[in-house]
Amino acid sequence: MANIVYTFEDQIYLNITNACPCKCEFCIRNNGDSVGDADTLWFEGHSPSFDEIKAEIDAFDFGGYTGEIIFCGYGEPTCAYDNLLKTADYLREKAPQCRLRVNTNGLSDLLNKKPTAKEICEAMDTVSISLNAPTSEKYEALCHPVFKDKAFPAILKFAEECKQYDVAVKFSLVNVISKEDIKECQKLSDKMGIPLRVREYTAD
Ligand code: SF4
Repeated sequence: MANIVYTFEDQIYLNITNACPCKCEFCIRNNGDSVGDADTLWFEGHSPSFDEIKAEIDAFDFGGYTGEIIFCGYGEPTCAYDNLLKTADYLREKAPQCRLRVNTNGLSDLLNKKPTAKEICEAMDTVSISLNAPTSEKYEALCHPVFKDKAFPAILKFAEECKQYDVAVKFSLVNVISKEDIKECQKLSDKMGIPLRVREYTAD
């Protein structure tokens, strides 16, 4: 089975699903089977149960680690919504010294067919949302979401709702878009009062 807990550049990550409603052209999943010290991040046929996630957490030595634990992996964590929330609760017991972050595509409300910002924000310390593009048309061309024209407005709505809670909300994008589009994303982020992180694309 795929690694659920793995480390990369001195940070701890949780890989809890391979499901995702997008096909981003820059997705790291296109470049290999694993990241960091993981052997593979691809599950065979099914996403892990909570018991399987719990077993890997129990087997992992968090030792003196005091950094962030990041829900990321080879899929969209909010596709495994119940396990995401349960796992976050469990990590508060197992590693109370750590902060929790979810890296999400922001499509949780559409995926789970209900408002999800409150529960996610209550579970996490940081919610990092992939903005990726400055407009709905450009987002669709780059990320190919199954939700079509509903996706980008849903991301902005989710981000706006997260701001109501006691959580750090961030946008991110990968620098595969034009400089002009990065500027437009920055303007949109500034208007919404959400910091934007521009990530380097790596094909490794
Ligand atoms: S949302 Fe994330 S996991 Fe899904 S295709 Fe895009 S980059 Fe990959």
